Amino acid sequence: MGTPKERHQQTEIELLRARLRSLRRAVDETEDLLNRYINAEQALRESEERFRLLVAAVKDYAIFMLDINGNILSWNSGAQRIKGYTANEIIGKHFSIFYTEEDLQDGKPPRELVIATEEGQYQEEGWRVRKDGTLFWANVLITAVFDEQGKLRGFAKVTRDMSDQKKAEEERERLHESEVQLERERAARQQAELLLQVRDEFLMATAHELRTPITALVGYTELLKRRLELGNLSVERMERPIQAVIEQAQRLERLTNTLLDMSWLEQGRVKLQRQAVDLRDITQRVLDSFTLLAEHHQLNLILPSSPLVIEGDEQRLEQIFYNLLQNAVKYSPNGGAITIELCAEKQQALIQVSDSGIGIGADDLPFLFDRFYRATNVSQHQINGLGIGLYIVKELVTLHNGTISVQSVPDHGTTFSIRLPLRP
Ligand code: ADP
Repeated sequence: MGTPKERHQQTEIELLRARLRSLRRAVDETEDLLNRYINAEQALRESEERFRLLVAAVKDYAIFMLDINGNILSWNSGAQRIKGYTANEIIGKHFSIFYTEEDLQDGKPPRELVIATEEGQYQEEGWRVRKDGTLFWANVLITAVFDEQGKLRGFAKVTRDMSDQKKAEEERERLHESEVQLERERAARQQAELLLQVRDEFLMATAHELRTPITALVGYTELLKRRLELGNLSVERMERPIQAVIEQAQRLERLTNTLLDMSWLEQGRVKLQRQAVDLRDITQRVLDSFTLLAEHHQLNLILPSSPLVIEGDEQRLEQIFYNLLQNAVKYSPNGGAITIELCAEKQQALIQVSDSGIGIGADDLPFLFDRFYRATNVSQHQINGLGIGLYIVKELVTLHNGTISVQSVPDHGTTFSIRLPLRP
């Protein structure tokens, strides 16, 4: 067993051994840690090197670093290819060298760094300048680089030359533009053809309208001539054909006046002879001249008791009333009621001409006042006309600073309403 001293020494040795073991373990662990750290460091260096090589080799993108002031710190082969500078020429220079004069004056380069710092990134497409002064269309991404403490370290800048894409896009736009242009031309051609067709129809209708009175005129004058030759000159035998000649000549005169009016209105050559007129007088006058034309219709007139005075051209106002009344007669069956009503309404004279005739389909209403437009009701009922009466009415009302509108129910009737400013 040994002496107490020997036992004590033995214990101390054991203790020392244990401490030595733990020390060795600690050294092992430290060595292990150190090795791992060295390996990691190496791996990081290798990875950084690989990344550096990768960046350096990228040809399609200019990738480079800026310091916090915007000076260039690194340069890759893509940057050299796209911008034309070698690394030696450009490193240390300020990145604003790539911007156009206009952008420089606008303070764009520093503004982009401010945005990138505040928002983390700045991206745009725009013009940039190469070393040789030529421009290219660039897609630019600036990313702010912060360290672990959140301190700004600089910026990574990636620029891509989009000139080819831009060119392709412009080419596409050009193609699209020319397609649009072609389409426009096609539409214009179609419109022109339609106008030609409308004009042809109008000429046919005009010829037709002219032929009827001319045939009548020829017939009646030949009749008169024959009667003259026969010496048959009694008043009874002469009066009817002479009256017919006068009526047909008047019809022709009205027709030519209408055609002239249309072309004068089109050219803006119609000038009003304005004076104060009481619309009640005009209406009465037109109605008086209508008794024969409307002998198979029932005419009603509703007039206000006091004068309805406007500043207008008497003849043109008569023409407006005449055209509307003529249509009311033409487009309603015999026996149909036609009402003309005049009244004052909110500083305006309101004139309404209503009939209980064939009416107009809703699809036609928006075009009714267009030149040459005839609604489908005319073909259904085979009614002749030129499609310019309402155009003239509308233009004359407009010259009087008034408005015209229409309400209609097919097979029930139509009401035209005209509003003209009353004389103050
Ligand atoms: P048109 O010589 O054909 O009568 P307008 O310009 O006077 O020419 O009228 C244009 C078209 O409006 C007519 O063709 C007809 O279809 C329609 N229209 C005009 N007035 C009436 C009415 N009172 N009732 C029904 N249809 C009408």
